[in-house]
Amino acid sequence: MKVKGKKQFGTTMGAQTDREIQELKQKYESLPLEDEIKKFVDMPLTQKTLKGLLDSKYVAPTEIQRKSILTALIGKDVMGTAITGSGKTLAFLIPVIEHLYMNKWSRTDGVCAIVISPTRELAYQIFETLKRIGRYHDFSAGLIIGGKNLKFERRRMDQCNILICTPGRLLQHMDENPLFNASTIEMLVLDEADRCLDMGFEETLNAIVEHFPIDRQTLLFSATQTNSVKDIARLNLRDPIFIGEKTKSEDVIPELLQQNYVVMELEDKITMLWSFIKNHLKQKIIVFFTSCKQVKYVFEIFCKLRPGTSLLALYGTLHQDRRIAIYNDFTRKSNVVLFATDIASRGLDFPTVNWVVQMDCPEDAVQYIHRAGRTARNKARGESLLVLTPTEEQGMIKELEDKNIHIKKIHIDPKKLFSPRLKIEAALAQNTELKASAQRAFVSYVKSIFLMKNKDIFNAFKLNLENYAKSLGLVVTPRVRFLERLLKKKGSETKMVTESNDFEHEDSDNDEDFLKVKRVDHDLGNNVEEVTLELPKKNKVLTKAAAAKIAIRKKLTPNEKVNFDEDGNVIVDKRKEIQSEVPEEYENKDGGINIEIAKKVLSQEDKYDKERFRQLVKQRHKLQKDKLKELAEANLQSNTADSESDDDVDLSWLPDPDLIYNADRKTEENVTSEMNSSDDMEEPTSKKAKLTSKLTLNDAESIAAQLLANKV
Ligand code: ADP
Ligand code: MG
Repeated sequence: MKVKGKKQFGTTMGAQTDREIQELKQKYESLPLEDEIKKFVDMPLTQKTLKGLLDSKYVAPTEIQRKSILTALIGKDVMGTAITGSGKTLAFLIPVIEHLYMNKWSRTDGVCAIVISPTRELAYQIFETLKRIGRYHDFSAGLIIGGKNLKFERRRMDQCNILICTPGRLLQHMDENPLFNASTIEMLVLDEADRCLDMGFEETLNAIVEHFPIDRQTLLFSATQTNSVKDIARLNLRDPIFIGEKTKSEDVIPELLQQNYVVMELEDKITMLWSFIKNHLKQKIIVFFTSCKQVKYVFEIFCKLRPGTSLLALYGTLHQDRRIAIYNDFTRKSNVVLFATDIASRGLDFPTVNWVVQMDCPEDAVQYIHRAGRTARNKARGESLLVLTPTEEQGMIKELEDKNIHIKKIHIDPKKLFSPRLKIEAALAQNTELKASAQRAFVSYVKSIFLMKNKDIFNAFKLNLENYAKSLGLVVTPRVRFLERLLKKKGSETKMVTESNDFEHEDSDNDEDFLKVKRVDHDLGNNVEEVTLELPKKNKVLTKAAAAKIAIRKKLTPNEKVNFDEDGNVIVDKRKEIQSEVPEEYENKDGGINIEIAKKVLSQEDKYDKERFRQLVKQRHKLQKDKLKELAEANLQSNTADSESDDDVDLSWLPDPDLIYNADRKTEENVTSEMNSSDDMEEPTSKKAKLTSKLTLNDAESIAAQLLANKV
């Protein structure tokens, strides 16, 4: 957690501050009309806030800021809707800061305001904006997101006045952190409120809201509308003021955003993307895919192929520090391509993005709007390209038209496409890890299509899996077992529980529980009723602490590995068993660790270990000896075999064995010895000594003469 801690506030507040507060309170009584406000200074804001805004070059408020800041300042609940990039962050941060100041909030007063964001990157971005505009104030703020040091956060949390959090992490603290006191909270803000309130976060958010005081002020902001009535009840909003309420989606698309789409067969998508990047090397581009594994693979393979521009990848399974580093890198650079999952689709404000490419069809129009809204922000220009397969085209375009989003079809000249297929295949052939990554990307895409709710648009059974696999560089199409199983079972009563549970865990972009729940939201086609019936209804979110308690109660040992032999019997690893008696007694004692006894235990066990080690060394030596013996025998045999097959050697100079036999055929004994030597004779040099010792003097002389003749 980063804490901007400036200690004292309120304790040494001078008369000047009191006067300022009084003056501002009077101004709250007679607020200026919205039209009268041209600049931030026209609003009843504190000097410190105005200075912070000016430092960041914020002079004139945007429309949503003008409307909602005034309303929120006087303590009303707000539901604000405005297009992406219209400045909603300041619309809630300014009232939060002002509230702290006006209520003389000090560090020792605990947490005053909580801002909830659906993704960690967005929380980080809000935190950075808060640091900039609040730099002259004396409050402290903390960033509470997953993937960071929990203990550190725990100790510092109660000293923060403003917390920017992701829902999962906040709930975890609320459940487990005894220092955290939610009763002091006076303001709750939900950024990207519709996402915070949707199915995936529903239970987490309900659990969080339970902890909050009812009389707090609540501000909800989003680009697309929430399911208002239900949400108002859930969040206990008191007579909320709706601001910028637009019912038509065309109003949430930035004016200067050029929207295009192209229809491509699934197997041509990679080629298209490669060509697109090669043709836009001097641009800042975000490319969206559905799953982490696709992002990871395309990033890895494109890095290998070196397109000639910087490549980055942002997805949920990366370590949090990496995520922040990549976010900052992309913000800073201007010629760069970012491959991302939908964690980058909500709220993130990257400056001057030229293109947003949606490689996979979005789930619905809302997701389309959020992804496309990463460009053309705050009156800037930008272009978006949606890539659809022929089967997706009709359904998706209708979905968009229904929401009044008109999008232009463009055609890509196939001649202008450069296929990286061969290079990809070559890279995969050399690198098994890359190949495994491609296989995971393949399966994960198929699963994502299968899980999509709108079956008019998405049909996993119609995918040409073979061609798609080839396009990813895979010569062999990976098996997608759940599809095979479903195809088999189609028509008969299908229990989908196991499958649906698998999918819940697939590719959740966040390690927090809520995204798993989102998968339950997906339509599983004909089997949907069975699925909803079979899935256990969770009323309470299971925290890590609760899971640990259950594990202790059931005496489960985590991470225990049990090996079985072929007959299914447990193989006991002797090495891990305690041998001596003292340790056994110790182990059977309940609870606690006694260092002294533990030392004794270790020294006792050490004896057994040493003995075992000695045995092992002995065994090894014996084995080595046996091996050497075998080797020696084998050598001897192979030498003989070699010589037998050796027919290249010129043996013509040797005496005719028949002659020798005839000459020496006197006794039985001699015959045998001659036969032995005839064997030997076939070995030209190595056995020469042996040969000569068995020859008569005459023979030896004749051989010598022969040798001399050969030399000449
Ligand atoms: P939203 O949350 O509505 O998508 P953001 O709050 O992220 O939009 O703001 C979009 C961009 O507009 C940011 O880069 C921000 O710095 C800029 N911005 C916001 N308010 C103002 C303002 N009053 N004047 C100039 N720029 C602004
Ligand atoms: Mg925003």
